[in-house]
Amino acid sequence: MNKDSYDVMLAEVQAFHDKHDFKNTGGEEMMYRVALMAEELGEISACVTKGKSVDQLAEEVADLFILLMGTAIAQNFDLKQAFWEKMEKIMKRESKMVNGRIRVSEFRD
Ligand SMILES: [Mg+2]
Repeated sequence: MNKDSYDVMLAEVQAFHDKHDFKNTGGEEMMYRVALMAEELGEISACVTKGKSVDQLAEEVADLFILLMGTAIAQNFDLKQAFWEKMEKIMKRESKMVNGRIRVSEFRD
């Protein structure tokens, strides 16, 4: 197994969905998935605000990443393709400093 391959990673998330039959048990419903993703984002936030270790942060980021990949499965879109299309867009965007921090955006008025 090539653990560097996105497709192998996606197949593992699919296997996780299949193991628990997410498709037929509400695990792929978007309202529920959005709540789960928000929950994991909160756990990432807690790692920062509570000064937890980078290992703990990495585990929570992995939780969110798995949920994101699972959302691509649930909604049947190609996240890898979406990633590259979006990277192409944002690499062309301008940046500016906003309140002391860099912001990359389209800066529509
Ligand atoms: Mg978590």
